Amino acid sequence: MSAQSNRTHTSVVLLVDDQHMVAEGIRRMLADQVDIRFHYCDNSLDALQTAARIKPTIILQDLIMPELDGYALLQRYRQHSATRNIPVIILSNKDDPRDKSLAFEHGANDYLVKLPNKIELVARIRAHTKNYLVQCERDDAFDELGRLQRQLEINNEELQKLTCLDALTGIANRRRFNEFFTKECLRSAREKTPLSLLLIDIDFFKLYNDNHGHLRGDDAISAVAKALQRAVQRPADLVSRYGGEEFAVVLPNTEIDGASMLAKTLHRAVMKLYIAHPHSEVSEYLTVSVGIASRVINETNSPEQLIELADRALYEAKHSGRNCSKVSKACYSPRVVSHSL
Ligand code: GH3
Ligand code: MG
Ligand code: MG
Repeated sequence: MSAQSNRTHTSVVLLVDDQHMVAEGIRRMLADQVDIRFHYCDNSLDALQTAARIKPTIILQDLIMPELDGYALLQRYRQHSATRNIPVIILSNKDDPRDKSLAFEHGANDYLVKLPNKIELVARIRAHTKNYLVQCERDDAFDELGRLQRQLEINNEELQKLTCLDALTGIANRRRFNEFFTKECLRSAREKTPLSLLLIDIDFFKLYNDNHGHLRGDDAISAVAKALQRAVQRPADLVSRYGGEEFAVVLPNTEIDGASMLAKTLHRAVMKLYIAHPHSEVSEYLTVSVGIASRVINETNSPEQLIELADRALYEAKHSGRNCSKVSKACYSPRVVSHSL
């Protein structure tokens, strides 16, 4: 700030006056000041446009002019974005305090009686210019700060999204699953609504990797993730990559029947990728096994228990030959039968 206050600012003066004699007088006063550039406009109708074009740091404004008087022009300067903050010194023949008061009411920054003393005029031009330019710098810095803040918010949002996404598949990662699952368990407990969980594991995937290579394995995991994501339609549901070739689908406010129906859809979605898997023992294409559990979370049914139930159901699906879904026995509904495809 101290460096700023010692700096010399160049003043750009615009005199608006219909009297050429006055203009000549002012021009001479300022001619030997290397830090002051002088511009002149003799027509009040051109004043606003000229000011917007040359961007003065100070306007010297006559009061009595044909067409538009100084008061009307002051109002226009203050209404126009390009001239709104430019300081205006009224230059008038009138020395009446009421005129001066009126000028300030119309937005003038200063008032001098014509022709002013040279030393005083130069001093005032410099002082107003300096204040104006410092204010402009402050405004620019403030705007830049606002812009940077908005950019930072956007970056943080992006970062937040990225920390929740799995790099390989682009779907939600384990961290997001944990966060989402915890939140939905709390909601289930609070609203006494059922929460369903599907744990999905690709069948014989080690064999797939061993025979097609790890990169093709990565592609397959990614394709399965996207197929699951597409198949899950409700915005309230979350599909996530739970581990290597395992996925978890959280279904808020969903009964076991609904979860079982969705499992069927998911089997179909993966099958329809038609990813050849000649070494699989259950199908010529890549398949998945699904463990399903559903609970209203409360003191006896904890979130960990729900995961445990889905995990055990998945284990059962694997031991029943794979490429099928199993509903946790603890959640079994007579209307639901486990299905094999
Ligand atoms: P199961 O039908 O019983 O699930 O058999 P599986 O072979 O699929 O199961 P297992 O747990 O024995 O092997 C999982 C394989 O998944 C082994 C591991 O190399 C592979 N895998 C895990 N994460 C990734 C990954 O990010 N990319 C690739 N390409 N393979 C992965
Ligand atoms: Mg596995
Ligand atoms: Mg597997």
